Amino acid sequence: MSNDTTCTNRPDSVVRPNCVVISLGEMTLKGRNYNRFRNRLVKNASAVLRAHGISWRLKPIYNRLVVEIPESEADGTLDAAPGEEKTRLGRCLTALARVPGIVGTSPRLRIRQHQFLTSDKQIRYELLEEPLIRIAQEVHEPGLEFVVRVNRADRWIKGTSQQIERRLGRTVIERTGWEKVNLKKPGRTFYVDLHTEGAYIGVRKNPGIGGLPVGTSGHVMSLLSGGIDSPVASFLMIKRGCRTDFVHFTADPVNLRMQPEENKIVRMVRQLSEYAGEASLWVIPETQFDLALLGSDTPYKLLLFRRFMTRCAERLAQRGGGAALVVGDSLGQVASQTLENVISNSSALDIPILRPLIGYDKDEIVHTARRIGTYDLSIEAYKDCCAMIARKARTRSTHAQLQELEDELLPNYEEVIARSIADATVVDFELGKIKQVTDASARNRDAEDEEASEDGEGAADTTVATPHAPIGRRTQ
Ligand code: ATP
Ligand code: MG
Repeated sequence: MSNDTTCTNRPDSVVRPNCVVISLGEMTLKGRNYNRFRNRLVKNASAVLRAHGISWRLKPIYNRLVVEIPESEADGTLDAAPGEEKTRLGRCLTALARVPGIVGTSPRLRIRQHQFLTSDKQIRYELLEEPLIRIAQEVHEPGLEFVVRVNRADRWIKGTSQQIERRLGRTVIERTGWEKVNLKKPGRTFYVDLHTEGAYIGVRKNPGIGGLPVGTSGHVMSLLSGGIDSPVASFLMIKRGCRTDFVHFTADPVNLRMQPEENKIVRMVRQLSEYAGEASLWVIPETQFDLALLGSDTPYKLLLFRRFMTRCAERLAQRGGGAALVVGDSLGQVASQTLENVISNSSALDIPILRPLIGYDKDEIVHTARRIGTYDLSIEAYKDCCAMIARKARTRSTHAQLQELEDELLPNYEEVIARSIADATVVDFELGKIKQVTDASARNRDAEDEEASEDGEGAADTTVATPHAPIGRRTQ
């Protein structure tokens, strides 16, 4: 039996939503590319639901997605919201609230086409009104005013949205405790979406994070510090659909190897991977740079180190298929982020550096950090290696000037980079969980072995490593 009759068959029980309608925002403007974006979102959202122990099916309907709730698992209410962990529906909404590409979710009662439309597309009002009345009674609050909003997605359905809204509104007043309509500031909205294949009635829209599905906007490598800004910068790139990997430079590599779960940066990426899905974190000790500059007391040390960090990240990005770097710079926030320094840092590289926060004020950044759950982690005590390298940065620098210093102080620059990357520890994440912790050298050896076997007898095997396996993703 279809669960579309859940409402009408059990008159004493609460109305259980039998689906969740997902709205998709700007993705729907993608014209012929829309299917590619939608398919990726179906894949990402299904993986997130599975990770939360939910195996409900996602179905595209017009420019929305619909999660179908099997009757035996329907346990929430139409008023369910993210954060309600006790029901499956609540957990589903919590999970979807973190998926880039989803603009909003709304638990709905779906009524099949034959239950509310005649064959010539006339609405059989009594069949649409019956569940609406039950829902209206269930959520009735004395004194509150309401509105009915109809979205007639299929233009063949007879009657204008306004006519249908008026008729349904009248019915709610005549047959329930609701007394007054308020078009401008209603205390409660009844949403009725009408498609030829079904009507979807709901009372609540929950906001999503918006943006685009991860995997539709390329691949970036984000430089992550222990501070507030760079996690927010990374989140903004994830939200715009980028596969995002991370690199962090540390003065304390031992702590990470001994207790990865305790490490602040690992916990930060674990939190970001709730949005990103799969991600890898490269933790690089700053020791090789320090050793190379031993004995030099240049006042440009911090600027040299920042160029060194971006150069290492560039190597990782190039080898792993990343097209750009991401940093948390905000113009003028600190001495190392003046326009001159931002430009001289960019000039050291072949790859572009993206700075999603360049025009943000600190309080805007803090606001987002709180919203995405990184703020409390950011303010935990942590010794960023930049602070250990030099207290103050010069506010002015040019590329030529820094290049000259590098030629003089770091004659074996490429070797210092290679040794630093070889000393790295790599942590792989998936949807808020640590998958594995490996040494970069072991990881590269494994990848080279896989490539060697790929060149040999196993070449016909279709499950071989990608060319980027040594640093980007491990092909399992
Ligand atoms: P944040 O809050 O992100 O630490 P900040 O205002 O403290 O930013 P800086 O310390 O000057 O600024 O760092 C600027 C950017 O350089 C950071 O946003 C980050 O992208 C990168 N960065 C700084 N320290 C590190 C590090 N230890 N490892 C990797 N990237 C770093
Ligand atoms: Mg910092």
